[in-house]
Amino acid sequence: MPESADWKCYYCNTPEISRNHLRPYGPNGALICFDCMKASPGREKEAERQFGAMLDPPTDAELNEYRPIDYTYDDELESEIADRDADREIR
Ligand SMILES: [Zn+2]
Repeated sequence: MPESADWKCYYCNTPEISRNHLRPYGPNGALICFDCMKASPGREKEAERQFGAMLDPPTDAELNEYRPIDYTYDDELESEIADRDADREIR
């Protein structure tokens, strides 16, 4: 954990303020602000990964903030996967 004087967002350098609470969900546990964490899917993924490494589990409210993005159901891909599964069962 960095010294409190260094508590700035890893990405945008914003110091910790109450409305922009820094979370240790950046690369290697670096502190990042909420805005930066939501700035790209990759960062959100990293944040989710960091959740797993946390000693303190996130609150329900925090978890709800990180719901996965809805994906489009892909018929072709689904049947491809089903075919592959069927193949595997035969062998
Ligand atoms: Zn930031």
